[in-house]
Amino acid sequence: MLNKTTDCPCGSSKNYDDCCAPFHAGKEFAKTAEQLMRSRYSAYALKQIDYLFETTHPDKRDDNFKTEMAAWANRAEFTKLEILSKRQGRSLDKIGKVEFIAYYHQFGEDKQMHEISRFKRFKGKWHYFDGEIE
Ligand SMILES: [Zn+2]
Repeated sequence: MLNKTTDCPCGSSKNYDDCCAPFHAGKEFAKTAEQLMRSRYSAYALKQIDYLFETTHPDKRDDNFKTEMAAWANRAEFTKLEILSKRQGRSLDKIGKVEFIAYYHQFGEDKQMHEISRFKRFKGKWHYFDGEIE
């Protein structure tokens, strides 16, 4: 059972403060694409829209980004993240891919999103670039 005050929503089984909180606060930066993926999932769960904006590659941010993200995140309750596979995205790589299933609850239904996300570095830091829905 998820303890919302302590367990990190990304499913690492660590405390939020020891897991994604330093990323959301801008105190630390994700070292791997998977770490960024997890921290973005927990940012959705905790409606940290600014973090989602900051960690999206600048080429992929449009004017309505924050409004659309907020609207989507506010309509969903995020329940679980499952990482299926990853390619590259390590500390010395410049690109990476992470395949995942995000589970969420929306409009009274349990839903899931299966995506392969692409991550790229921008100014040395990992950013979400785009994704293919499976
Ligand atoms: Zn986390």
